[in-house]
Amino acid sequence: MAADCLGADGPHGVIYWRKRRMVVVDKENCKGCARCVAACPKKCLEIGEELNSMGVKSVKYKGEGCISCGICFYNCPEPYALRVEK
Ligand code: SF4
Ligand code: SF4
Repeated sequence: MAADCLGADGPHGVIYWRKRRMVVVDKENCKGCARCVAACPKKCLEIGEELNSMGVKSVKYKGEGCISCGICFYNCPEPYALRVEK
């Protein structure tokens, strides 16, 4: 079952849970250092091909695998480049 499923039939009826949120990148504040890429235990970050307004290839989320652990956030030297929502 999908991790972000909002409802499912269970033995005691329909179970609902909040949609799980993941890592969110602000590419304009990213310096492309890739510290977060190296630190991510799930290997779900990568440096993208798209340039931000400073001409930097910023990090991007691969789209799956994030467990919201926050390790990327604590390894990032830029205060507003990424955040992890739970
Ligand atoms: S929160 Fe954890 S799993 Fe998700 S991208 Fe960051 S380091 Fe990887
Ligand atoms: S999000 Fe932070 S750690 Fe990751 S590449 Fe950008 S500046 Fe570096």
